[in-house]
Formats: sequence, C-alpha cells, structure tokens
Amino acid sequence: MEDCCAVQPQFVIIGGGSAAFAATIRAVELKAKVIMINDRLPIGGTCVNVGCVPSKNLIRAAEAFHRAGHPNFEGIESQARLTSFRKIIEQKRALVSGLRQAKYIDVVKDLPDVTIVEGRAKLTSPTTVEVNGEEIPAHNILIATGVAPAIPDIPGLAESGYLTNETAFELEELPESLIVLGGRYVALETAQMFARFGSKVTVLQRSDHILPTETPDLTDALAGYLREEGIDVVTGVRLREVSRVNGEVVVQAEVGGEKQTFRASHLLAATGRQPNTRDMGLEEVGVALDEKGFLKVDETLQTSVPGIYGAGDVIGGHQFVYTAAYEGKLAAGNALGEEKVRRDYRALPWVVFTDPQVAGVGLDELQARQQGIDAEAATLPLSYVPRSLAANDTRGFIKLIRDRQSDKLIGARILAAEGSELLMEAALAIKFGIKVSDIVEMFHPYLTLSEGIKLAAITFDKKVETLSCCAT
Ligand SMILES: Cc1cc2nc3c(=O)[nH]c(=O)nc-3n(C[C@H](O)[C@H](O)[C@H](O)COP(=O)(O)OP(=O)(O)OC[C@H]3O[C@@H](n4cnc5c(N)ncnc54)[C@H](O)[C@@H]3O)c2cc1C
Repeated sequence: MEDCCAVQPQFVIIGGGSAAFAATIRAVELKAKVIMINDRLPIGGTCVNVGCVPSKNLIRAAEAFHRAGHPNFEGIESQARLTSFRKIIEQKRALVSGLRQAKYIDVVKDLPDVTIVEGRAKLTSPTTVEVNGEEIPAHNILIATGVAPAIPDIPGLAESGYLTNETAFELEELPESLIVLGGRYVALETAQMFARFGSKVTVLQRSDHILPTETPDLTDALAGYLREEGIDVVTGVRLREVSRVNGEVVVQAEVGGEKQTFRASHLLAATGRQPNTRDMGLEEVGVALDEKGFLKVDETLQTSVPGIYGAGDVIGGHQFVYTAAYEGKLAAGNALGEEKVRRDYRALPWVVFTDPQVAGVGLDELQARQQGIDAEAATLPLSYVPRSLAANDTRGFIKLIRDRQSDKLIGARILAAEGSELLMEAALAIKFGIKVSDIVEMFHPYLTLSEGIKLAAITFDKKVETLSCCAT
C-alpha cells in the first residue's frame, strides 16, 4: 500500500459492518481516503448476515404461519401447513444477499478513494495496521470489529455441539426440539420463531426473569404469553453439564435447588456477546479495554490513544445496528472533522421482536427513581384500546412514565403486537420535552393502536373506564 499522503488523510477502518460503512460514507464526505478491512463475517457484518435481517425475516415468516393457523376470531377455522422449511431459508438467503449488495457493497463501490481489503487486521503501532502481511499507514484508525457469540463455560457444551446466531438461521431442517440458553432478546426472538414453526422449545434463563434489565410486570407478562404458545420458559437455572446421548443434547441443571434434566435435538447458545478485540495488538499500542475486553472510549468515541477511535458493538453499551451506524458516523466526523461532537443517547428507542413485541424508550419508573426523579407510571392494559379489542388481541399494555413535577414524559414501556410502531411518538415527546398534557390534547385517530398512547397519557389523571369514545 502507498504512503499516507499529507494532503489527503488516510482513514483505516477495521471491521466491515454497519459502524464501518457509516464511518466510510462520512469519511469520504470529509475527503479522506478510506481503507476498510474486514474478516470472518461477510461484508456487511452481523446485522445483514447473521443478525437483524435473517432473524426478522424468519420471525415474520413464523408469524405468518402462526396467524394462518390461529385466526383469532370465532367462526373462522383454518389450518396452516409448513410445506418446506428449506424454501423459507432459501428466501431468507436471497433477502440477505440482496440487502448485502444493495445496502453495503453497492453503496461504497462507486465512492472515490474507498478500498475494501479482506483479511484480519492488527495494529502494529498507533498509526499502522497490518493485514495480509502488509503494513498500512494511517492518519486515523477506527476499530469497528463488533462482537461474537459468548459461549458459557459449561462442562461438555463444546463437545456436544451447539448453534449460535451465526448457524441457527442457516438450518435447512426444522429442529424437532430446541433448548435455548439465555433469556435476552436474541434468545427470546429465536425461541418463539422456532416454536411457531413447530419445534418444541425450552428456554433456560439464569436470572429470575427473562429480559433481566426490565421490570417484572413486563417480563412476567411476556413469559406468560410465550408459555401460552407452548414454550417452556424456565428461570433461575444453574447449568451444570451438557452431553450428547443417542443424538440428543442433554442438559443437567439446578432449578430452585433441585436437579433437573432437559433434552432436545438441538441447543442454541444465546447467552451474550463478547467483543472482537483479542490478538489485535490493541493493548500493545496502549488502547485501553474494560474488564470484559470492550474498547474504552470517551464521549467523542476516541480510545485512550489519540487518533484511534471505536464505534459499534465493540465499545459495549447499546449494541444496536442504528447506534453502531450513529457511532461510526460520529467517530469518523470527530477523527477527520474540525469540530468534536459528543455522543448523545437520550431518547434511544429499542425493540424486542417477540410477539407481542417489547418496546422501550427512556427510563422506567425504577430507573427514574434511582436517579432521584419524582417519577410516576401510568399503565394501560390493551383491553382498553379499541384497536386491540377490534383485533381480538388484547395481549399486553402501554406504560408511560412521567416526571411528576414537570409533567414531562421521561419513559415508555410497551408490550403489544406491533408495539414498536408506537414507540416513536413517545421518543419524540421525550427528546423534545413534550408534556403528558400535550399528548392528551393531540388528536389520535380512533381505532388506531396509537390511540393507546393518548389513553395511557390520560390514565395519569383519570380512570379510562369513565371515558366515552375517542378518549373523551
Ligand atoms: C440475532 C441478532 C439479531 C439482531 N437484531 C437486531 C435488530 O433487529 N435491530 C438492531 O438494531 N440490532 C440488531 N442486532 C444487533 C446488530 O446486528 C449489531 O448491533 C450491529 O450489527 C453491530 O454492527 P458493528 O458494525 O458494530 O459490528 P459488526 O456488524 O459485527 O461488524 C464487525 C465486522 O468486523 C469483523 N472483524 C472482527 N475482527 C476483525 C479484525 N481483527 N479484522 C478485520 N475484521 C474484523 C467481523 O467479522 C465483522 O464482519 C441483532 C444482533 C443479533 C446477533
């Protein structure tokens, strides 16, 4: 590779996922020469290849199959038949490769001064990166190497064989039965997807409840809905040993102090994610890592070494594709631009794509009180939302959290079919300091799910049972 030239800065990006692509586009806008180095996962990284895209496509397919067999209205009988699981996987592959081409490869292919190199990158100094035996000089470096599945250290697990998000969406035959280790979003989304296609699914979660960072009202309700669909959700599980006996995976565990054995044809490890920072020469050149190996970055996303930045899952924290892209763009701007911008995650919305979905933004009532805010929550069961009644699907609730002193909305938690579509009204309100009383005053069309936001807002001061049509 040629020398880093004085007039045009050379920006070396390690990683080829969403953070890297957002950083590339920003760097080109800032007239830098970009060298992106990617290894292991195909270009595009986790989201398009083995994360968001395949999982959400298969979840939608499973949902279509489930709804076809469960019309939810008396007087309608239907039967759905899964004729080819392989076809579903083939459609998923086509979607993944189409989006990888359109949203990653094509986006940068005509950009000036962008080179993509395949190979494993390593830092050899704060301004040089080695790949395929060659040293590349860099004016600035961005580390956007993402994370990989973290496999728990359980005796026998490695020998027994397990699936991760990198292999589970590639199975061409539906597992007869599946044990899912973990109880966070990847575990729950994948568990419900396979269960809806017809696998017998058991979720084994170490904490006392699934989605352990959320409040029990939400997690207990979701666990109940998953159990109603036939998923065995077991919490408080201490895993002891895994073995393979006559082709079956056998998990020995302790639940509530008692020994229990779980068996299935397949096992999915969805127990967390570990940063891709090993053997990259990071600590040798002075880049500080935290105790779990995630990159330590400051508010401008710079690491402990000036000129080396971090973005995306590898810096820990939120680990969503839209935060990865936001951070990639911000880091490139801060590395190459004149002004340093600090990261800002206020009003960050997030979604768990189970059915019903879990969607959240801002603080829940416990987090708010821990921060010393005089917080108050209003919870509206969906049985009060006309749209949900009309759909015969009243699973879930809308919970709004406000600062009692200012009446400003500070958080929302939604458990509802397609509940994620409600989230952005709450996110906008939080971001722009809109009061609960302002939301109450807004028109919300009758028989939309979004009317539920208005009804939940009213619930702070009035009983919803006393209202007439249209939340008046
Ligand atoms: C099953 C699943 C479902 C998900 N669903 C969603 C969703 O619905 N919505 C959402 O917002 N987020 C979702 N996510 C999270 C999202 O996929 C990630 O937050 C996002 O892809 C992270 O992007 P990134 O650029 O930080 O890392 P990645 O996309 O992982 O890219 C990093 C790249 O760097 C490569 N690399 C690693 N080390 C090196 C090295 N030394 N040299 C060169 N290259 C290297 C990696 O192999 C990879 O190709 C999901 C994740 C999973 C696992």
